[in-house]
Amino acid sequence: MFRKIKGQDHTIDLLRKAIENRRVSQAYLFHGSDGVGKFMTALYFGMAINCYGLTELRPCGVCTSCHKFLSLEHPDFVHVFPTPKLDLNSEGEIKKEEVRKQYLAYMQNKLHSPWADFFFKESTEIRRENIAMLMKRLELSIHEAKYRIVIVEEADQMNVQTANAFLKTLEEPPANTVIIMITERLQMILPTILSRTQPVYFKPLSRGVIESILEDQFDTPASNARTAARISAGNLKTAIRIASETVSVSRDWAFNIVDLAAKQDDLGFYTLIDKNREQKSKDQLEDILKYMRIIAGDLALLTVADSSEISNVDKQEFFAEICRTHPGIDDRIHEYLLFLEDLSRKIDGNVNPNLVMINLYLKTKRFLTA
Ligand SMILES: [Zn+2]
Repeated sequence: MFRKIKGQDHTIDLLRKAIENRRVSQAYLFHGSDGVGKFMTALYFGMAINCYGLTELRPCGVCTSCHKFLSLEHPDFVHVFPTPKLDLNSEGEIKKEEVRKQYLAYMQNKLHSPWADFFFKESTEIRRENIAMLMKRLELSIHEAKYRIVIVEEADQMNVQTANAFLKTLEEPPANTVIIMITERLQMILPTILSRTQPVYFKPLSRGVIESILEDQFDTPASNARTAARISAGNLKTAIRIASETVSVSRDWAFNIVDLAAKQDDLGFYTLIDKNREQKSKDQLEDILKYMRIIAGDLALLTVADSSEISNVDKQEFFAEICRTHPGIDDRIHEYLLFLEDLSRKIDGNVNPNLVMINLYLKTKRFLTA
């Protein structure tokens, strides 16, 4: 089943060997950017440790132990993640029905669409009560597993007080228990915690890996997969989100701007802005800029390579026409890309989204028609 995790062969080899050589650590810290397979690897690792299948097939995914892990219902699996205030009763159950529902929905999301982010209605962190719940579970004896498996997601989301409570668990680890902490922000983990774990790095996924996952598992057409892979910077979650926008509003905006700028159709541009008065969010602006970067890259590529190499394969004629009517683009591309980078930094500040769009249009016009 480890084969299902793509692009992390080295890491998975390391973990398999640890199991084979009976050198499984008591605490791991899986780190690396979002959307590269840390959670699924942690779950499969826990499954492999406990699997009843043949050594080389572990985790088999079909034995009773694997089954229980796969549904996140194994009695010896403890899952800790940032939550809103849970307000537990003396039995350790969540008092409020609404919060309990959201808590269960989080788990369902993890099971059925782990690539999608789940948002609680209130702000979340790993709280004292989450750790208290964990400690209560660790006091009980193990039900049936060889090793109890604890996965702590977003382990950096603990305040110092909570982290210190958790540290006690790491300092006196319960027998036959493997704790796997997961984080995107290694620098936020307290050194005292860090020093008691074995770090395992997950690298960003290559474009090729993302493309093949999108095509094989999500039936994404090749051209969309290629664009999504380029934009996502190794993050599968982002790639899936972009690929699933069948009609991408941000992509349309980017192509509209390029089209109007190439025609020097200022009136057309301002009419477009006027018709879409609602302000764009930072994320939308970022997405538009990402598409602009890819379009600029495609234009630059066309001056030196065959048109089948470009990302936006469905727009070959559009690009060919622009290159034919606007010579010298390759001389100005570098400056234009620097401008896009600079603009993307400004979006992080408090700039007016419409001004960003206007600035983008004017610079694109200069880039194409200078
Ligand atoms: Zn199994």
